[in-house]
Amino acid sequence: AYLLSGRVALVTGGGSGIGKEVCKLLAERGAYIAATDINKNAIQDTISNLQGNSGKASHLAMECDVSSGDSVRSCFSEATKHFKQPPTLLANCAGITMDTYLAKMTEEQFDKVIQVNLKGTFLTNQAFAHCLAASAKQGGDAAPGAIVNVSSISAHRGNMGQTNYSASKAGVEGFTRSAAKELAKFGIRVNCVYPGLIETPMTDTVPEHLKEMVKYAIALKRAGQPQEVAEVIAFLLSDAASYVTGACVEVTGGL
Ligand code: NAD
Repeated sequence: AYLLSGRVALVTGGGSGIGKEVCKLLAERGAYIAATDINKNAIQDTISNLQGNSGKASHLAMECDVSSGDSVRSCFSEATKHFKQPPTLLANCAGITMDTYLAKMTEEQFDKVIQVNLKGTFLTNQAFAHCLAASAKQGGDAAPGAIVNVSSISAHRGNMGQTNYSASKAGVEGFTRSAAKELAKFGIRVNCVYPGLIETPMTDTVPEHLKEMVKYAIALKRAGQPQEVAEVIAFLLSDAASYVTGACVEVTGGL
């Protein structure tokens, strides 16, 4: 039903949490996975546990720093060579937090979070679009493209200690809406999801009493699982969402 058979999906941040679940789910639904992460060991582990690692091409693990243009572009060309077709799906799950109150935040902490979360979104979306355009120029008949970027409820609520992170994620949403308009004529849909409190290594270090306070405000009264975010990302990437672009979809359990 999800029409992902034979599609090549490049996933950033595939070594952990939401990105790892996206790799798993897209592979189960027939996609070939180009899994990337800055953590090389984690990405190998993701790939070795994926289904469907046989057939015409095996899944691919690549080390990639999304804040470096060279690193991102070389991953897209390596994936295109490996699968003999460009990735037509992109799930942009790499992200970091460096929480500190504004009064104490250093320029480095601000810049780093913007570079990974926001500049990383720009670099991966641009490389994806270039890669598809290059393939079309060479007469390739690639399937329509779809991108899902990952924002956060923090862009909407403004969590304490997250001025850098909230700003980066609000940027991801504005970026997504503009990119959706620009890339529509190339057959590329661009959407994003904004998760709430999800149980992944990113939120492992959040103190228990703070998590309890957030859960109280969640309509469903619990944290989400990374699979529950991956399901929405998989839907938006699939042709089942063929009339959805420029959307920012809330996945917060009603927070
Ligand atoms: P996670 O820490 O489990 O996974 C993030 C992955 O990104 C890690 O594997 C990490 O190595 C990778 N990464 C970090 N810097 C990178 C870089 N420069 N280049 C490439 N990869 C890099 O976190 P997660 O919870 O799975 O988060 C996934 C996305 O969801 C992030 O964008 C995060 O901001 C967002 N998000 C998470 C939550 C939550 O509650 N967990 C809530 C809202 C949004």
